[in-house]
Amino acid sequence: MKKVLVVEDEQSIVTLLQYNLEQAGYTVYIARDGNTAVSMTLSEKPDLLLLDIMLPGMDGMDVCKTLRQEKVHTPILMLTAKGDEFDKVLGLELGADDYLTKPFSPREVMARVKAILRRVELQDSLSVKEPEVQVEVRVGELVIYPEKIEAFINEKLLDLTPKEFELLLYLVRHSGKVLHREQLLDAIWNYEYTGDSRIVDVHISHLREKIETDTKHPVYIKTIRGFGYKFDEPPVK
Ligand code: CA
Repeated sequence: MKKVLVVEDEQSIVTLLQYNLEQAGYTVYIARDGNTAVSMTLSEKPDLLLLDIMLPGMDGMDVCKTLRQEKVHTPILMLTAKGDEFDKVLGLELGADDYLTKPFSPREVMARVKAILRRVELQDSLSVKEPEVQVEVRVGELVIYPEKIEAFINEKLLDLTPKEFELLLYLVRHSGKVLHREQLLDAIWNYEYTGDSRIVDVHISHLREKIETDTKHPVYIKTIRGFGYKFDEPPVK
């Protein structure tokens, strides 16, 4: 049975989420503040976190950041208040997988929860079923080891979130091709994503910060205005 940790201090939302999750057959854990959320994630090892941003003490952003720093890659679905533009982008930058804006319907939450868990399951089964030996991928100063989920630039290990890694690998494997935002959304966030393609832009800008020497003049990830992005082999120095 899948375990979901609900991190929320508003009782009405806790009740709503708990009821719907339990109806769908999930085991539900509740944390009402950020510190408890972190310790419960480490001790109970949930399959998914539903994480509210506004919490007493440590807020949702800090919880997300702390967990990712601890190398905990549990999927996180952030719950944000309406109009919190800044929060959404920052949340994704901090390593959240997706977000939902309050007020949301139980159906919406459950669809998102199922989609995330299905995707994780699919990834797990694929990684188990593919014993093929994957060699490293090299482009310019960038070296990726798909099997080890490691990437290096100038022999320095990159600290990438799972989504950033997936995106980077996808870009590299489609080197030289113009990739539409929607195509990337579909390939990397391969479920019915109801948000906008800004999630792609956020991850691209993050990748650039990590792999480009000058993010204003990227040599690897080019912006193709009006379309999306293109990964290129940088010119030989
Ligand atoms: Ca709250």
